[in-house]
Amino acid sequence: MADAVLVLNCGSSSIKYQLIDEAGSVLGRGLAERIGEDSGRLTHTGPRGDVDRSEPIPDHETGLRVILNAFDDAGPALDDAGLVAVGHRVVHGGDRFADPVLIDDDVVATIRELVPLAPLHNPANLAGIEVARKIFSTVPHVAVFDTAFHQTMPPHAYTYAVPQQWHEDFGVRRYGFHGTSVAYVAREAARMLGRDPGDANLIVAHLGNGASITAVAAGRSVDTSMGLTPLEGLVMGTRSGDVDPAIVAHLGRLAGASAETVDEALNRNSGLLALAGANDMREVHRRADAGEEGASLALDVYCYRLRKYIGAYSAVLGRVDAVVFTAGVGENDPDVRARSLAGLDRLGIEVDAACNEAAERGARLISPDGSHVAVLVVPTNEEVEIARQARALALPR
Ligand code: ADP
Repeated sequence: MADAVLVLNCGSSSIKYQLIDEAGSVLGRGLAERIGEDSGRLTHTGPRGDVDRSEPIPDHETGLRVILNAFDDAGPALDDAGLVAVGHRVVHGGDRFADPVLIDDDVVATIRELVPLAPLHNPANLAGIEVARKIFSTVPHVAVFDTAFHQTMPPHAYTYAVPQQWHEDFGVRRYGFHGTSVAYVAREAARMLGRDPGDANLIVAHLGNGASITAVAAGRSVDTSMGLTPLEGLVMGTRSGDVDPAIVAHLGRLAGASAETVDEALNRNSGLLALAGANDMREVHRRADAGEEGASLALDVYCYRLRKYIGAYSAVLGRVDAVVFTAGVGENDPDVRARSLAGLDRLGIEVDAACNEAAERGARLISPDGSHVAVLVVPTNEEVEIARQARALALPR
């Protein structure tokens, strides 16, 4: 028996899943996609091979049943794996959940109350929870929230200086996201530094399609760049990050654009896509190397914004043990790492060019020996973290 946890990440039209054993190894994984569309698709990798099937998947319940069939066909058998819990990724826990939680009807109701804070994500997460509780009715279900790790932020970091009625009535404050990733990466970084996780001061840059940066003091989040929604902060693939909020009214007056239209543009048509014409960082580099000015500017803006936050969070933390890069860009892009840290040697932050550019993939140190602040690259693994947290609640020791 592997004491396995099934980790589910349900989107509105997809279910991503991994079956993870106690050691953190993936026993099986896959993706059900195009749920609710004319033709659905299921891809699965198990010990007995791969499954790639096209069939209609009208809803999430059918999606989970199709996934179970794939486990039957390509393994591993869920009974043999000793399923001990199902771990659900939930995007928004508001200020109601500072930790993962065993799911019961009250928890489901609370996640539903939080839908206005994450109108695209929480309903899909709930759909997954409801069908999984039906299908896996004998094991505990655990919700792991993207926002939970940041609930340790102090009021001066999470409070916006706006009418406080907005906070009380509509929940307007900083929440932060990517918390599961940051929790995992921060613990790995502390281990690499030989420090107790509760004693590590870190600046963690999660640079994927969405991007955020977090100040971690003594193992706890004390500030993070994403806010009420994932729009705030760093430049991202299609999101602007920080802008003057008066843009919304300005475009309303001059272009007749509704707040919804501007919000949509800031989330979907901004960031690297707006400046470089591509949201994939590899393509942005290709275009910059080919002499496209928009792409060069996009890289300048991206790295400059990152450097500003690293400076700001150095001031927040006082003592910084490490700057840590993770996710697609953070793990794979030596140019972004070097440029965003350039000129920070006065803060004790330096990069060893050879280590930074080495074609290595694992967790590694890229600062010179003896430098004041370590610079680390740590591959993230949100699924393993969700499995770890779910197992800890399901099998308390
Ligand atoms: P998500 O946020 O969807 O989980 P990822 O963490 O996979 O995304 O990150 C996706 C981003 O990582 C994309 O912008 C992609 O271009 C970038 N990326 C992946 N590989 C590289 C690479 N070798 N160099 C630069 N960027 C990369």
